Amino acid sequence: MSWFKRDKPADEKLPQVENGERRVRTEGLWQKCEGCRQIIWKKDLESNWNVCTKCGAHSRIDAVTRLNLLFDDGEYTRFDADLRSSDPLGFVDSKPYSDRLQSMQQTTKLCDAMIAAAGRLAGRPVQICAMEPRFIGGSMGSVVGEMIMRAIERCIDKRQPLVIVSASGGARMQEGAVSLMQMAKISAGLMRLDEARLPFISILTDPTTGGVTASYAMLGDLNLAEPGALIGFAGPRVIEQTIRQKLPEGFQRSEFLLKHGMLDAVVPRLELKQYVATALRFFVD
Ligand SMILES: [Zn+2]
Repeated sequence: MSWFKRDKPADEKLPQVENGERRVRTEGLWQKCEGCRQIIWKKDLESNWNVCTKCGAHSRIDAVTRLNLLFDDGEYTRFDADLRSSDPLGFVDSKPYSDRLQSMQQTTKLCDAMIAAAGRLAGRPVQICAMEPRFIGGSMGSVVGEMIMRAIERCIDKRQPLVIVSASGGARMQEGAVSLMQMAKISAGLMRLDEARLPFISILTDPTTGGVTASYAMLGDLNLAEPGALIGFAGPRVIEQTIRQKLPEGFQRSEFLLKHGMLDAVVPRLELKQYVATALRFFVD
């Protein structure tokens, strides 16, 4: 299962400190770029929306930053911010799901792995749902499903376009079949949006995998992705073991998927807002 898989922290391969020499603590002022391996001042990176100023690699951003990037002046109204999972299965893995939820809620200041919001994008009223990759791997459970459904209903009600930014390991294991049912529920909702002739733009960011890829992330009128994003259903190791073949270079990255017709465009983060604005003008006006 890929929903909880995380990249190793960037500092894991730092050279061992010898002879009791102390390592200088930088208090997280610096960050190593995953693309060019250079050490970058974190503030420089953040002021450039976590896009490396040296090589252009896209690091992950949280849902709040994402909404600030897309909405005019970073202004928006949040919806359903207090929806919480009821832990329908009473699930326990290495710890009880309810405890996991609680600690995630404290860390991220969110009730679940999504922010649903309304505001203006280049002057046009839109509904945007942004997934939070830090919240149990951005996994989709009943709350994420319900938030998207309600966003779809607001879109139909107010005749507004929908944008969903995915960053997810897939369906949330701790909610079992309830998570999987969200795939059908949202797909049916998007059908209604389509019947109302309202556009849905899906933005796939690093990572978008599992049940999220297998449902709404790939159902956009436009499916856009950020450069270098991991996008797939099962992980490469599982696929290699199943088909007993070596996978090609760059497999499951945005550029590979674009080349093979799975995406409509790969758009750099700094151009994303303008791109979506232009697309909506084409769809709506
Ligand atoms: Zn870089």
